Amino acid sequence: MDVLMYLRKSRAEELHDPTEETLRRHREQLLAVAKRMDLHVITTFEEVKSGESLYSRPQMLALLEAVSTGNYDAVLAMDVDRLGRSSMMEQGIIFDTLRRYGVKIITPDKTIDPTKDSDAEDFEIESLFARRELRTYKKRVRRGINKSVDEGSYLANAPYGYKKTVVNRQPTLEVYEPEAAFVRMIFDMYVNQGQGTTNIANYINALGAHPARSDKFGRTSVAYIIKNPVYIGKTVWNKQHYVIENGVRHSYPTPEKKKITEGIHPPIIDEETFERAQEIMKKQWHKKYYDGTVQNPLAGIVRCGNCGGLMMRHPSGRKTKVPFLMCQKSGCIPTTPVENVEAAILANLREQLAVLDTDIENAVPPDVSVFDKAISSAQHELKSLASQLSKTHDLLEQGLYDVDTFLERRNSINERTESIKAFIIDQQERRSAVLASDRRVISAKIHSVLDIYEVSDAAKRNEMLRSIIDTVWYNKTERKSSSPFNIRVILR
Ligand SMILES: [Zn+2]
Repeated sequence: MDVLMYLRKSRAEELHDPTEETLRRHREQLLAVAKRMDLHVITTFEEVKSGESLYSRPQMLALLEAVSTGNYDAVLAMDVDRLGRSSMMEQGIIFDTLRRYGVKIITPDKTIDPTKDSDAEDFEIESLFARRELRTYKKRVRRGINKSVDEGSYLANAPYGYKKTVVNRQPTLEVYEPEAAFVRMIFDMYVNQGQGTTNIANYINALGAHPARSDKFGRTSVAYIIKNPVYIGKTVWNKQHYVIENGVRHSYPTPEKKKITEGIHPPIIDEETFERAQEIMKKQWHKKYYDGTVQNPLAGIVRCGNCGGLMMRHPSGRKTKVPFLMCQKSGCIPTTPVENVEAAILANLREQLAVLDTDIENAVPPDVSVFDKAISSAQHELKSLASQLSKTHDLLEQGLYDVDTFLERRNSINERTESIKAFIIDQQERRSAVLASDRRVISAKIHSVLDIYEVSDAAKRNEMLRSIIDTVWYNKTERKSSSPFNIRVILR
């Protein structure tokens, strides 16, 4: 295994111990691990100036750049230290990046494999990085990724039908025949036999096909395959949107930012079949809202304008061909097909978004300078405490302090240091909260929901709508189902 070694002092050691000494000890320990596990250490990155600022680790950035060449199998480090309490969003970006390159973390205690879900759960890699570095890092990685994608490399997880491989040091894909056979079947059924995605999913499930990340195919995953140009030899790189919903981070691909280039991997489907599939898909677009098995995408969102109660979905019956949205008090308010209300909500969201985006152009970004100032002066004080601490060491060595005085002095400096660190973290969290209230963030959130709404199932749609909408008020006076109705969409 080709590995990169990363050395730095942890926060606890930061102020106590001369840097060189700690790093030397760590290096010996890690080299012992390398020897025991038969690891080939290609390069070592060590942070020597860690005392200068807790929030600056240029070597980590360099290491990450090396990681993103795809030439290494693991990073060898002392521990996954809990330094940066960066946001869930950043944690996710780092996590995804490491997973993308399949890079493990090896410490003297354990090996963490980010591609394994079990490891992912306690994988707190975000702690290795501080927020500011991340921004620089993301920029550089994006550049690196773009270059690789332009050259035809495939960097994401292998899509169904393929396995990851490396050709001339370029990460790419090879056909995985047991799955590729099902991919061909999907396209054949869709294009030549006129089957819908639900039927196709049921059929290949019955034949024992298994998608990578769930146990069964559904119409969404089948549609996803039909639309993926990777099967005609293209490389697709999706830029992702990150949205925090109820404290959980979700990543959504951003279709308009999709980058498609000629890949270097073999196609599974010929271009003509693929193009025909895309045409059929476009025509089906509007019809494929419901297949009877899904739940209500508007569950818990729409309220009756008469009584204020939540409206529910009434499934289609003999008389009504499509599901209706109705008040739970029967006869309280005229009903409307669910899909009409859903379409009206989406249209309303697009309108609100347009207004929001115009506002944003003229708006001033939220002012966080007060936090920046507080953080920067706190960091100064940390530095000065560090130098005070080193002075107490000198005074002890020169015999001007006795041990008790030294310990007392040191403890008080350490206490002060800890409270300043806590203060910095608190200020950073407040700063993030202010930034998150920015209209830009709200707009990005709505954009990302709209981007993948069409390809999501009802449950996911409901989850996404709830993440941005507080309530939709529904009003209607005429009894005919096709009569006009009114909605008012209240955003969260
Ligand atoms: Zn009602």
